[in-house]
Amino acid sequence: MTQEHTALTVALEQLKIAAEKLQLDPGIHAICNIGVFNGYRVQHWDVMGPFKGGLRYHPNVTLDEITALAMWMTWKCAVIGLPYGGAKGGIACNPKTMSKGELERLTRRYVSLIFEYLGPHRDVPAPDVYTDAQTMAWIMDTYSQLKGYSVPESVTGKPIEIGGSEGRVCATSLGVAFCAREAAKILNLKLKNATVAVQGYGNVGYNAASIMHNMGCKIIAVSDSTGGIYCSNGINPHDVRVHKTKTGSVINHKDCANITNEELLQTECDILIPAALENQIRKDNADKIKAKIVAEGANGPTTPEADKALYEKDVCLIPDILANSGGVTVSYFEWVQNLTREHWTLEEVNRKLETKIIKAFNDVQKLSKKEESDMRTAALMLGVGRVAHALKTLGLWP
Ligand code: GLU
Repeated sequence: MTQEHTALTVALEQLKIAAEKLQLDPGIHAICNIGVFNGYRVQHWDVMGPFKGGLRYHPNVTLDEITALAMWMTWKCAVIGLPYGGAKGGIACNPKTMSKGELERLTRRYVSLIFEYLGPHRDVPAPDVYTDAQTMAWIMDTYSQLKGYSVPESVTGKPIEIGGSEGRVCATSLGVAFCAREAAKILNLKLKNATVAVQGYGNVGYNAASIMHNMGCKIIAVSDSTGGIYCSNGINPHDVRVHKTKTGSVINHKDCANITNEELLQTECDILIPAALENQIRKDNADKIKAKIVAEGANGPTTPEADKALYEKDVCLIPDILANSGGVTVSYFEWVQNLTREHWTLEEVNRKLETKIIKAFNDVQKLSKKEESDMRTAALMLGVGRVAHALKTLGLWP
């Protein structure tokens, strides 16, 4: 039997009836008509430095998911060598159906409720799924208003004009591209005309497609939450972006065949970039992955069973905590610039990012060879090992 009502739908329906009888002012009715959203901030470990991690808005956000994402941030920061611990935030909401004003009020309310747990030396949020530079500007303003003075270093991924860093928007994707390029070198795979499939067309997916396109690769398939498109002659990522802005989705693009997200993952290609959500490559479809390189732009797209299957198939998988660490790395650069009141050029930011990512890539690669393991195990050994070592050195007190 389907449930007709929840307690909240009953209360809202009752309010509507009373408001009509009272001929209540619509503005007053709207204020009584409070929407309830569940929001979370999980702080995992701060032995390496202040907590750091994004804030996501998505209907399926749960405490379980945010906890996993917070833990991955701890290992990620340790693998790339940033002085941060791991955290993550999330609000279960559907930003696609919300107005800009509603998103602003939701963001400011969330920050005001967890204000005492935030701060440049305590916990520094950043963008994640369906949050962006505008969301970060509201976070900075709310935090600063409550403090009584401007604190740009309280959040990263801000617009450049209020203290954001050059290169932050593309940083995650640029890191993914650097990793894919290094992996291609090892496999003797030429990037020129290498075929690429990208799952997800948000900030990370779109920019990854765009950067790989500029590196000479052929983007043959892309997707978003509504489905995907395929074209063996190659897709221009910018044109698809224009099409998505116009129509709300990547599908039905000229000269392309519509495909499902499942078909996208199984596309015959050199490089596959999952840049959407968790649990995409699983036991049931891992055997059907035909890519030579998988570079994880998303967090947690592959399950442990799928990891094993891909390793046995000799697929070179660059794990999330390495492949997508470019975002938090440039977040760190932004925080350093804010603390020192400096502004670096795009060239400087990208040069520093490249140096850090390549060093981490080589560290992980070397360890995976030594341990005869996949790169995820090696990356985790590095990250968890560094945190455990710091924990032991600090000791437990009180
Ligand atoms: N949300 C991004 C991630 O998962 C960036 C976090 C940050 O910049 O703090 O890595």
